[in-house]
Amino acid sequence: MKLPSDIDRLLQEESVVIRFCKEADLEHQESRRQYAHTGHIEGDIICVASAFNFLDPSHQRGLVLHELGHLLLIDSHPSHSERDADAAVSTRYRTKIQYVDSEFGRRLQWVAIPVVFGRRTRRAAN
Ligand SMILES: [Zn+2]
Ligand SMILES: [Zn+2]
Repeated sequence: MKLPSDIDRLLQEESVVIRFCKEADLEHQESRRQYAHTGHIEGDIICVASAFNFLDPSHQRGLVLHELGHLLLIDSHPSHSERDADAAVSTRYRTKIQYVDSEFGRRLQWVAIPVVFGRRTRRAAN
């Protein structure tokens, strides 16, 4: 799967696997802005619909980051909200997820600026 290079690296660093899933395809058929989910298969796995492949890279980045937010909270706060997932991303990656209307769907996650690496590591060392 072709991903923005910063997201490819982030998934590797976080040991998160991204995979296509038939149920994600069905969800996308029912609701156009539904491209991805977590929690379907236990572990650090993000499932995406095949339509994810054709998204603008900024939507791909926004969607993957949002799903990473769910994975960050899934154990400690199993009943967290969508907003909580975005807040976890904002705290951990210093990246704000925006929601925009586009040809790919309404109010779809959008992050145009690549994730910056290194800050988190330096903070941890202080
Ligand atoms: Zn799935
Ligand atoms: Zn979500």
